[in-house]
Amino acid sequence: MFDSLQERLSGILDTLTRRGALTEADVSAALREVRRALLEADVALDVVRDFVETVRERAVGANVVKSVTPGQMVVKIVHDTLVETLGSDARPIDLNAAPPVAIMMVGLQGSGKTTTTAKIAKRLTERGRSKVLMASLDTRRPAAQEQLKILGEQVSVDTLPIVAGQSPVQIAQRAMQAARLGGYDVVLLDTAGRQFVDEALMAEMVEIEKATDPHEVLLVADALTGQDAVNLARAFDERLSLTGIVLTRLDGDGRGGAALSMRAVTGKPIKLAGVGEKLDELEEFHPERIANRILG
Ligand code: GDP
Repeated sequence: MFDSLQERLSGILDTLTRRGALTEADVSAALREVRRALLEADVALDVVRDFVETVRERAVGANVVKSVTPGQMVVKIVHDTLVETLGSDARPIDLNAAPPVAIMMVGLQGSGKTTTTAKIAKRLTERGRSKVLMASLDTRRPAAQEQLKILGEQVSVDTLPIVAGQSPVQIAQRAMQAARLGGYDVVLLDTAGRQFVDEALMAEMVEIEKATDPHEVLLVADALTGQDAVNLARAFDERLSLTGIVLTRLDGDGRGGAALSMRAVTGKPIKLAGVGEKLDELEEFHPERIANRILG
């Protein structure tokens, strides 16, 4: 992820830094190139526009062209603006509520939802030392509940016993009750996905949200799908109270547009990033670290 953007931006900024004195025309030319590089990385047009305008205003405000090290100042402004675009601070999962804290996982089929559910369970169990219960509410795909059970065994996390014939809402209610009776701190609800967003999916999600009152509603979205991931987040947020995004496949060979646009377009923080298929390949999303990676 970010490789070609990183190459482009570091090329543009290196040229500025090496030049010594800069004119306003130099800065404008560089910003035009930054704009093009961001657009080619599939960053949303509005986000690109705001980004470039903010950098321009800050460069003018800081009187960059009169400074002794103008190139370095521009690099710093670009860096800081990038961090802000990505969301400024890391936003970990919030467990600050009366247990059992419900975390509802939503997203399209194949986005990595079930894998991410197990990754989060593993992380909370190991680091937070929380007692975690996972439940698959996917009654549509026959193997889905079994898949979560197998993942649960791999990460040593309990899964709700499978009972045939229950509806997703009934399973969700059973999960909440089992968590209360069993003294669990956290319940992860892995909902069913679809190939695309449709009314049936949304209605089901709304019903589950109402029945469980989750403290976190996390959308799992595939970073490789670019602006589709951003539009998906918008669509889900219209119907549900999304609290954050998990971007998967950040290890993939994508251009980075989803990661860069998501926060600014949706207002929702990217909380976690999937960086591989293995169950420990989940990272907190740190805007500062991502910005450093993008700027090389
Ligand atoms: P679901 O249909 O949304 O529940 O998707 P799954 O959890 O079954 O994941 C679909 C595929 O994506 C599986 O092969 C996962 O191993 C893979 N996957 C999930 N997250 C990541 C990730 O962050 N990086 C990579 N490379 N693969 C992932």
